[in-house]
Amino acid sequence: RRPIPTTVTPAPPPHVLMFPLPGQGHVTTMLNLAELLCLSNLRVTFLNSDHNHHRLLRFTTVQSRFAIYHQLFSLQSISDGLPSDHPRSGERILDLFQSMSTITRDLFRDLLPSIRPPIDCLISDGALQFPLEVAAEFGIPVVHFRTIGACCFWTYFCIPDMIEAGELPIRGEEDMERLITTVPGTKEFLRCRDLPSFCRSPDLSHPSLQALASATQQSTKACALILNTFEGLEGPILTQIAAHCPKTYTIGPIHEHLRSKLTLQPSSSSSSLWEEDRSCLEWLDRHPPKSVLYVNFGSIAVMTSEDLIEIWHGLVNSKQRFLLVMRQGSVAELGSNTNDTITFPEELVKGVRGEEYMVVSGWAPQKEVLDHGAVGGFLTHSGWNSTLETIVAGVPMICLPYFADQQVNSRFTSEVWKLGLDIKDACTRKVVERMVVELMVERKEDFATSAAKMAELARSSVGFGGSSRQNLEALIEDIRSMKS
Ligand code: UDP
Repeated sequence: RRPIPTTVTPAPPPHVLMFPLPGQGHVTTMLNLAELLCLSNLRVTFLNSDHNHHRLLRFTTVQSRFAIYHQLFSLQSISDGLPSDHPRSGERILDLFQSMSTITRDLFRDLLPSIRPPIDCLISDGALQFPLEVAAEFGIPVVHFRTIGACCFWTYFCIPDMIEAGELPIRGEEDMERLITTVPGTKEFLRCRDLPSFCRSPDLSHPSLQALASATQQSTKACALILNTFEGLEGPILTQIAAHCPKTYTIGPIHEHLRSKLTLQPSSSSSSLWEEDRSCLEWLDRHPPKSVLYVNFGSIAVMTSEDLIEIWHGLVNSKQRFLLVMRQGSVAELGSNTNDTITFPEELVKGVRGEEYMVVSGWAPQKEVLDHGAVGGFLTHSGWNSTLETIVAGVPMICLPYFADQQVNSRFTSEVWKLGLDIKDACTRKVVERMVVELMVERKEDFATSAAKMAELARSSVGFGGSSRQNLEALIEDIRSMKS
């Protein structure tokens, strides 16, 4: 007689809780990682702020996107402690850190032990300090995820050394060109001007500066660190970081990593928290290859109306085609409830489509715009996600950073990677015009060559045998070993 086979029940997958800082770039990147984890049969609960949870359900197809993973993916939400009409942008983004570290912290402590099945691993945004502290109370291992580049992570990490060496505070405008010597690996090119915006405060006890420095140092206490970057881009800086955070998994560019595994249409992985205006894609269809400069400043930056007017005239005077996308509320005096005190060109207020330019008052499907053959350059605020998306698309950049990590990213983009021009602190119509002509006409071929090389490196890092692909596999093994 043949033996009766015993049925082997497969072990349940590890359960990972993912908790991003409630910002567009953070949510997008973490959702992409969540999908990569589901693809490897890990169970993910994704914790959004209530505010973003509602917007995600309203403006995206996130539920149908993850429906194919059945029980492996679920969404939960928690209050960020701010009233629903708070702008959560510009300088007021700092209120978010304040309210989360008190109100959300307590809610999180109640929530964490109640999630079923119990959490085996928390992947939390390393910009938030309390999740690691709360998870420690329950003995849950924590992996930190930073959605900034290694270049800025490392600069934040070195803030205490800069202070101790007397390199901070910066002594006014005349001190801005001074080279910083206490951020190893950057001595030849990192100036005071290129430090994260919070370092410009004359007050070293400024809460943002202190919070950033201590949150970054806290990553040394996490079980591991995930960075959305790749070795071909930031290898030397990653070597510096590895001395302090030996288990650092670089798995980026994550959006391309996901695309390479799923052969996705970019629109199907959208996680926009605003309604996308897709009409600009049709407008782009009508223009020759690499002839349009795309202009967009991301989800948080708020610029002055003077800056916008200078940018506008610089663009028009450059005589290059452009697509300008302005999010609602992204210009201080153009906010929905305020009275305009400056006369804006009508095109800027209404959003106009002409042959030579298009203005979108809203939100664009950025990854698709960057991948469009008609786009030949990007005037960007140098947010990290925008930087990576532009690198993958092989598009050169003009960098006009506003705050946080953007000052560092723009310096690396221009000086280290040679992928564009940095016009930080010089937003005049003359400079904008000059740089647009340089990027789109005079040095077009040089920049196209370096952008194409880096795009190839980015793609190969997430392809078979690539470093980011291997690091993701190692990360997943690491998480599996945490299953209790
Ligand atoms: N984005 C978009 N449409 C827009 C503006 C931005 O899809 O009109 C996306 C962009 O593709 C990126 C994210 O929003 O993924 C912005 O993240 P980033 O880190 O560049 O900047 P932040 O908004 O955090 O300053």
